[in-house]
Amino acid sequence: NKILMRTESIKRYFKGKNKTTFKAVDGISFTLHKGEVISFVGPNGAGKTTLIRSISGYLVPTSGKIEIMGLNLAKKPREARQKMGVVFGGDRGFYNSASAYDNLAFFARLLNVKEKDVKNNVLNALEIVNLLNVKDKYVGSFSKGMMQRLHIARGLVNKPEILMLDEPTAGLDVESVYTVRALIKNLKEAGHGIILTSHDMADIETLADTIHLIGGGKLVFSGNTDQIKEFA
Ligand code: ADP
Ligand code: ADP
Repeated sequence: NKILMRTESIKRYFKGKNKTTFKAVDGISFTLHKGEVISFVGPNGAGKTTLIRSISGYLVPTSGKIEIMGLNLAKKPREARQKMGVVFGGDRGFYNSASAYDNLAFFARLLNVKEKDVKNNVLNALEIVNLLNVKDKYVGSFSKGMMQRLHIARGLVNKPEILMLDEPTAGLDVESVYTVRALIKNLKEAGHGIILTSHDMADIETLADTIHLIGGGKLVFSGNTDQIKEFA
C-alpha cells in the first residue's frame, strides 16, 4: 500500500524566562497510506496541535523529518505543501460577495493550478462536495453545512492526494455532520490519505482506520478503534 506521508518529528519550545526548553512533540513518527484515515487523540497539552501544525508546514520542527509524497517538507516546503489540502472549519476565509465558483477559482490560482485546469478542477471539487448546483450563488448565502463542504472543496481544488481535515464537523447541525462524514468516507474510498482531527469521538470511531494516542509529546499507542478501546 502506497505511503503518502512519513514523519519523525521533534518540537521544542522555550519555557519561562531562563530559556529552558521542553519537547512538546518528542519523536512522534507515523505513516499515512493511500485510502487511510488517521487521527490523533490525547489529553490537552499532549502535543496534538503542535504535531498537526508541523505536518501542515505552519510550524518548523526543531528536528526530525517530514516527508510528503516523497518530498522533504523542510527542503521543498512549497512543493510539499501543495501535495496536501489543509481544511479548516468555520465560516471565514471566503469572499462572501463572490460566488462559490469564483472563490474556488481564486484559490486554485493561488495554489498554482495551471490556467487551463482551473475550470475543470473547480467544477470537479464542487461536484465531489455536492455543491455544483449552487456554484453561482454568493457564498454569503450559504448555510454552515454548505460552508464546511466549500472548505473541503477548497482543499481539493489542486487535486492533492493528502487531506488534512481540522475539526470538519465542529459547529454543524446533526444532518450536516452526517453529510460531512459520508463525504469523508467517499474521499477515503477515492484513495485520499486523510488526517482527521476532531473533538467528537464519534467522528473518529466511524472514520479513522488508525488512531494514534498521544501523551506528553510521545506516541503512546496506535491501533484501530477496537484496539484503542482495549488499550484504554
Ligand atoms: P494539544 O493540542 O494536545 O492540546 P499542544 O500542541 O497545543 O497540545 O501543546 C503541547 C504543549 O506545548 C503544551 O504544554 C503547551 O502548553 C505547549 N505549547 C504549545 N504551543 C506553545 C508555544 N508556542 N510556546 C511554548 N509552549 C507551547
Ligand atoms: P487549540 O485549541 O487549537 O489546541 P491552543 O489553545 O492549545 O489551541 O493554543 C492556542 C495558541 O496558543 C496556539 O498558537 C499555541 O501554539 C499557543 N500556545 C499554547 N500553549 C502555549 C504556551 N504555553 N505558551 C505559548 N503559546 C502557547
